[in-house]
Amino acid sequence: MREVFRRVQEIVTGIDDNTDIYGAVVPPTFENTIYRYPDFDTVVETTKGHVARYGYSKNANPTTDALEKKLAALENGEAARCFSSGTAAIYTVLLSLLKQGSHVITVNNVYGRVVDFLRNWFPQFGVETTYVAGTSLADFEAAIRPNTALIYLESPTSWHFELQDIRAVVKLAASRGIKVAIDNTWATPVFQNPLDYGVDAVIHSASKYLGGHSDLVGGAVIGSRAYIAGLPQLGAVLSPYEASKMLKGLRTLALRMERHESNAMAVAAMLENEPKVRAVRYPGLRSFDQHELAAAQLHGCSGLLSFTLDTDPAGVRRYIDALRHISIGGSWGGFESVTYAAAMSGDPEEDIVKRGFAVGQIRLSVGLEPLDTLLEDIRGALQRV
Ligand SMILES: *Cc1c(COP(=O)(O)O)cnc(C)c1O
Repeated sequence: MREVFRRVQEIVTGIDDNTDIYGAVVPPTFENTIYRYPDFDTVVETTKGHVARYGYSKNANPTTDALEKKLAALENGEAARCFSSGTAAIYTVLLSLLKQGSHVITVNNVYGRVVDFLRNWFPQFGVETTYVAGTSLADFEAAIRPNTALIYLESPTSWHFELQDIRAVVKLAASRGIKVAIDNTWATPVFQNPLDYGVDAVIHSASKYLGGHSDLVGGAVIGSRAYIAGLPQLGAVLSPYEASKMLKGLRTLALRMERHESNAMAVAAMLENEPKVRAVRYPGLRSFDQHELAAAQLHGCSGLLSFTLDTDPAGVRRYIDALRHISIGGSWGGFESVTYAAAMSGDPEEDIVKRGFAVGQIRLSVGLEPLDTLLEDIRGALQRV
């Protein structure tokens, strides 16, 4: 077993679930809203912070606490906080690290809701944003202003898979007193631990691999104890039921990521040799333009990749509709293979290109199916292009 998988499995099964009840192997899910106090004085002592007790599930819940402990350990962090979605986690991080008049630097192909927040909601507080390619340190250096408060990374991005050199960005940021946050959803804590490189906040959409079973929406932020304790409480909390499903997901995280990686490597290698495929974007490939950086900062690769069919939107439609096994869908990171095409926006070709996509670009989340099933499905559909 590779060390990264051993480490994750040991954390997941080694940290107990906080609740030894009747010796149950899997703990119950605490779905209660409030907790009773035995008497007047206990309320006073709890309010003063002298006694640690659960009081109200929006603030703390044993099931969610167990999950947060594991997530913190998986990212080599001191503490974690879970959210009702990855988007809520992102918004909380932005609020926590920005103030009136701050400047943010992020990457061109960052997750869309980040752009939405920074373009449509933060400018009313005087927050300005600079978008950079992010593939060279000079991009960040040139964008820094006296009021730059945050560099927000996503490495790799989730359509084009551009990487940022996390260690180098952190070093630059630290020398200028700038905080660094990163969306680590693609790599998962199995394949990348940005806190080890000095990042201040790690964000996950747990709706992808951490949940892993396409049955929950959730998010998480991991960082130092002080940072997590100081996060604003927006009330966008993860429900205990979702927390227990995420705990279940974590129990197979190492296993799943091992299979996602091997399946995706094989699919990417196959696609590279297909005449109708023009370009394959997957950091695990030797031909990947940032393969060296990928090898230096990632411990492995997850199952999401993209490739470009050498065809027009009609050819993309023929390919997609010819798939028999792989589902069509917008998200990723589940047990099942799911695909999406840039041309599904339905926009004219020039608009697709203007947004930075190739007309024939297709994203594929490689699932846990037998590899042969996937290869045959893709090869069959490619014949219809
Ligand atoms: C899906 C996604 C998010 C947002 O997560 P939600 O749980 O859907 O809110 C953030 N970042 C990346 C890279 C994502 O793919």
